Amino acid sequence: MIERIFITEEASKYPYSFEICEKANIKPEIIPDEDYYRHNIENFLKDEVKEGKTHLVLTVFKGDFFRKCPGTRGKICCNYYVIDQTTNCPYDCSYCFLQSYLNFRAIRFAVNIGDLFEELDNVLKGGRFIRIGTGELSDSLALEPITGFASKLVDFFENYPNAMLELKTKSDNVYSLPDLKGRKAKVVVGWTIAPQKIIDNEEKLVASLKERLDASKHVAQKGYLVSFHLDPVIFYPDAEEMYIEMLEQVFALHEKLAWLSLAGFRYEPKLKWYVENRFEKSLLLDGEFIKCSDGKFRYFFPERVRFYKKIAEFVLEKSPRTPLYFCMEDRAVWDIVFPKDYLKEQKMGLLF
Ligand code: SF4
Repeated sequence: MIERIFITEEASKYPYSFEICEKANIKPEIIPDEDYYRHNIENFLKDEVKEGKTHLVLTVFKGDFFRKCPGTRGKICCNYYVIDQTTNCPYDCSYCFLQSYLNFRAIRFAVNIGDLFEELDNVLKGGRFIRIGTGELSDSLALEPITGFASKLVDFFENYPNAMLELKTKSDNVYSLPDLKGRKAKVVVGWTIAPQKIIDNEEKLVASLKERLDASKHVAQKGYLVSFHLDPVIFYPDAEEMYIEMLEQVFALHEKLAWLSLAGFRYEPKLKWYVENRFEKSLLLDGEFIKCSDGKFRYFFPERVRFYKKIAEFVLEKSPRTPLYFCMEDRAVWDIVFPKDYLKEQKMGLLF
């Protein structure tokens, strides 16, 4: 995982930077700024994507941490806000858009979390209901054992019971999270899951499906809400059976989820090079794809609908109170897959 930690001169004024190095048991390298890393370290890496994921740059972020999830053009969007405090991730997934999206290869972690909390306070003190996650440009818990950041965030949300924080992960780094029983913070731990065969071929360094499910049981006992994301759904041979079997395991543990999302694999053309050159075992690009209105490639519409219908039928029967929704899908898909007025059902009020 993390092999080198760099601290920018500005971040070296924050004791938090050194706490992280101590927990990681890594001697930090002080650098003038992020540009120094880019020109003097990153430029000399043999495999910048792979090696960048083993480098942690502790820095001070000057922009806005908080923003609305941009969604994608022409698709139905759920009301979600994101916190961009960490960028990039030590895990390595074939389908990860960060491979072609990022132009800074190390994991960038902002240590000025006091500024983040101040910004969040301004947004949340108004009292309106809001769903927020940290897992848009990183994995929310991948670095938890050395940063403890999610735990600090959970404690911060204690003062804002109107908000719902989601920590999205493919790890099982939940055992150090604070106990939430009897507390006011509303926190959801959300696992992105896939059948183990897909994890084996497409995701590196992550927790196994069983480890993720065990962790979900643990946090539920500690007073957290639990969500799952089938994102991206990848059409392997026998995908339907594999996904249903996995969902059987999910609902054997949880009668109702905070939410469950479904999103088919989609990609921008730039991602192809990374999949073909970095993931020997990947079957990701074996399917047939069509270019959609947002410029991304997706599985053909009838295939997506057929698959989603199977999953939706299963979930709506097994756990009728779980809000099931699509991430970045056409209205037409919603209309075909879900019963009429599904979006108006009470359980969906939380999301839309
Ligand atoms: S866990 Fe998420 S952020 Fe990390 S490599 Fe995989 S897809 Fe990307």
